[in-house]
Amino acid sequence: MYDIPFLDLPALNGASGTVRLPGSKSISNRVLLLAGLSEGTTAVHDLLASDDTRVMLAALGALGCTLRHEGPVLHLTGIAGRLAVHEADLFLGNAGTAMRPLAAALAVLAATQGGNFKLQGVPRMHERPIGDLVDALRPLGCTIEDLGTPGYPPLRLRGSAGSRLATQQPIRVRGDVSSQFLTALLMALPLVADEHDVVIEVLGELISKPYIDITLNLLARFGVAVRREGWQRFTIAQGSRYRTPGVIHVEGDASSASYFIALGAIAAQGSAPLRIEGVGSDSIQGDIRFVEAAQAMGAQVRAGPGWLEVHRGRWPLAGITLDCNHIPDAAMTLAVMALFADSPTLLTGIASWRVKETDRIAAMATELRKVGAAVVEGSDFIEVAPPKQWQPAVVRTYDDHRMAMCLSLAAFNPLAGAIPGQPIRILDPRCVGKTFPEYFETLLSVATAAPQDLPVIAIDGPTASGKGTLAAAVAAALGWHLLDSGALYRATGLAAQWDGIAPDDEAAVARLASQLELRFGQGSESARTWLRGRDITDELRLESTGLLASRVSALPAVRAALHALQLAFRRAPGLVADGRDMGTVVFPDAPLKVFLTASPAQRALRRHKQLISKGIPANIADLRADLEARDARDRNRSVAPLKPADDALLLDNSDLSIEDSVAKVLGWWEQRRPFNALPLSGRQAPGTLSS
Ligand code: C5P
Repeated sequence: MYDIPFLDLPALNGASGTVRLPGSKSISNRVLLLAGLSEGTTAVHDLLASDDTRVMLAALGALGCTLRHEGPVLHLTGIAGRLAVHEADLFLGNAGTAMRPLAAALAVLAATQGGNFKLQGVPRMHERPIGDLVDALRPLGCTIEDLGTPGYPPLRLRGSAGSRLATQQPIRVRGDVSSQFLTALLMALPLVADEHDVVIEVLGELISKPYIDITLNLLARFGVAVRREGWQRFTIAQGSRYRTPGVIHVEGDASSASYFIALGAIAAQGSAPLRIEGVGSDSIQGDIRFVEAAQAMGAQVRAGPGWLEVHRGRWPLAGITLDCNHIPDAAMTLAVMALFADSPTLLTGIASWRVKETDRIAAMATELRKVGAAVVEGSDFIEVAPPKQWQPAVVRTYDDHRMAMCLSLAAFNPLAGAIPGQPIRILDPRCVGKTFPEYFETLLSVATAAPQDLPVIAIDGPTASGKGTLAAAVAAALGWHLLDSGALYRATGLAAQWDGIAPDDEAAVARLASQLELRFGQGSESARTWLRGRDITDELRLESTGLLASRVSALPAVRAALHALQLAFRRAPGLVADGRDMGTVVFPDAPLKVFLTASPAQRALRRHKQLISKGIPANIADLRADLEARDARDRNRSVAPLKPADDALLLDNSDLSIEDSVAKVLGWWEQRRPFNALPLSGRQAPGTLSS
C-alpha cells in the first residue's frame, strides 16, 4: 500500500495475467450491519479490508457486537435487534455505506429502546446529504438533531425506551438523490415490524436500482423477505427478524473489477487475456453490467461463475453514448476508457456523481483535461473526447478512491499513440484504501512497460558511504523497488563458502551465482533475505561476508552471471539500485545517476558506530584500513571498476544528514521529471473540493 504523497506511474504498454479482486464494499458493509443486528454468530468470508469497512467494524464493536478474527474469517456476533449499548459517539470516516444505514438503524432503535448516539465523519462526509433519510424517519417519531448544516451529518439520534413508532402509514422516502436512503430504511425497519407490515414508498424516480437489489438479496440471506412492487413500493412483513445465515461469502467488488475490465480492453493484446477472479456471471452486483458497456466500446469478455477474462477487441475503442443510471460507480471507468476511443463518449444519467466522495463530474472533467482530453460537463452528464496530444499529468484524487483508480489507466497512453509515453503522477495514492488498498500493487503486477520508460535511479559509491541507507530511503519515498546489488555478491560469497568453493575459482563461483536461490522479503519482511531457504539477513551484513563479496565480485564470469538477475529488478513503477557499477554497467541508461562519497575517516566512523550498536567489537583504525583496501580492490579490478559514470552527479555526504542526502537526490530526480512546471506534490486535506 502506497502511503506516500504521490506515486508516479511510468508509461505502461500492456497487461496480462490474473488479478484477484478484494471483496465488494457494498456487500461487505451491508453484511456487517445485518450480522451486527442479527441473532447469532456469522462467519464472514472474503470481507473487504478497507477504510470503509474498518469504520463500520469499529462502530459495531462500540455498539456491543463481538468481533473475532480467525485467519481471514471474521466471526461477528450480533445484538439480536436489542441495543446492548445505549450511548455512543461513532466516527464513520467518509463511508456513506456506514453513515446512512447506521443512522437509520440507530434512529429507530434509540426511539424504541432508548439511546443517545452521535454519528460523524470526515469533513467531506459532512457535505454529503442525508436530509431525505432524516425526513423519512422524523415523521415516525425518531428524534434526529442536526449538529451541523441541516440535512447533513453530523447527527445526534435520541430516544427514550418504550416509545412507539408511527409505522402504520407507508413511510415515504425520496429515491432520486441516493439509493442509500432506501437501503438504510430497508435495513432499519425490520427492527420495528413487530406489530404489522411496514411499507416504504419511494418518491420520485429511484436511481441506482441495482444497489437496492443487493440490499434485498442480502436481507433475504439474513431472514427478512421484502415484497417489492415495481421500484415504488416495498413491504416488510410483520414479525420480520434478523437471523444469521451462519456463514456468508462476500463476492469480489464489481466496481473494482471495472478497472481491470477496462485494462483488458485497452492493454490485453497478446494471446493471453487478463483474468479477473472474484466476480463473474453469477454476481449479484449491479456494476457487473459494466461488462456490457465495456463490450460496446470494444472489449472481448468471457465470463463464468466467479471469473471474467478480458481481451482487447475493437481498437481503438469505440466512443459510446450511454445512460449510466444502472452503473453509477463503474461508469466513471467508461469516462477513462473514452481516452482510448476514436470518437467522443457521452455519459448521461450521472447526477449522483456530484454527491459522492467528491463532485465526481467536476473532478473527472478537470483531471481528464490534464492528460489532454476535451471534456464537456453538465449537471448530469459528461462528454469526453480523446486527447489529440497526451500530456504528462499530475492528477489530483480528491480523497476519492475511484478518481485514483480511474486515472491510473491514463498511464497506458503509449497504446493510444503517445510518443514518447507520458508518466502520470497520482497524488495521495493511499486514497484507494477506501475499497482497494492493494490497487496499485495489483495493477502493476499485471502491467508491462518498455524498459526505457521504467525509471532507474543508480546510486554508486565506495563501501560504507551510506548508499544502502540512501537508496532504501529514496525508494521508500517514491514507492519504488530496491536493488541492493552488493547483497547479490555477498550471497554469492556465502554460497561459495557453504559449498567449500574457493572464492577465486571463477567457473565454480559463477555457476553458483547463476543459480542463486535468493529471496528478498516483501512487505513487513522487506528487511530480510533468504538463501536456499535459510535466513541470512544477519550473516549477509558481516564484515567477513563483505570481504568475500569483494573477492568474488572481481571475477568477470561472476559479474556476467549476476547481470540478468539485476536487470530483472527493473519493474514498474521504478527502481533505485545501489552498488558500484549500477550507473556504469548495469543500467547505463538510468536517467539519474548519483555517485556517493564520504571521507574515509567519516566512513570508518560510521561503520564503527554501526558495528558497536550491534554489539560487535571494532577498532576504527582497522576498519579504515579495511575499507581503503576494499576500495582499492574495487577501483582497480579489470571489470566494472568502481568509478563514477560520466554523467553521474557527485554527492559528498561527509557533512550531510541522511534526510539532507535524500532530499538532494529527490530534488535532482524532480528536475528530470516532465512535471516541472507543476507543484511537486502535497497531500490533500480530505474532502477538499476545489480543483
Ligand atoms: O555494497 P556492499 O558493501 O554490500 O558490497 C559488497 C561488495 O560487493 C563490495 O565491496 C564490492 O566489491 C562488491 N560489489 C560490486 N558491485 C556492485 C555491488 C557490490 O562489485 N554493484
